Amino acid sequence: MSFVTFVVNNSGVIGTTLRHAREERPVANELILIIEDNEKNRKLVRDVLQVKGYKTIESETAEEGLRLAAEQSPALILMDIQLPGMDGITAMKQLKADPNTKSIPIIAITASAMTHNRTTMLAEGFDGYQTKPISLKDFLGEIDRVLKARSK
Ligand code: MN
Repeated sequence: MSFVTFVVNNSGVIGTTLRHAREERPVANELILIIEDNEKNRKLVRDVLQVKGYKTIESETAEEGLRLAAEQSPALILMDIQLPGMDGITAMKQLKADPNTKSIPIIAITASAMTHNRTTMLAEGFDGYQTKPISLKDFLGEIDRVLKARSK
């Protein structure tokens, strides 16, 4: 009992214990490709992912995203649906049709919850679905879920 009291009262020991607990959490160092034409949305997603330990690469168009996906083989792609040239659904279908990229999971990120929903987007071929503006907890939870489903 006196030992427990000593540990609790010693800030150095408490600090060591907390550091150890943090190190035991899995490190999310995987590469995520963000395809999003809106700069503010792209920055928000990039910042959130980097804080969580993910590495990120980005493109503003589907066309550039297809090139990056083939070149960098990211662990996951976050695909905006409304893009300036090719749209996100068409881009996803091209990625899924290409043997080099078909195993990369893709989460649809859409602002239009009225025209798209989780059921229709998963039926199109997406592996996950999130609406904008993103809810951090749901967003990170969906990324974690899709990455775990991939590794099974
Ligand atoms: Mn967009």
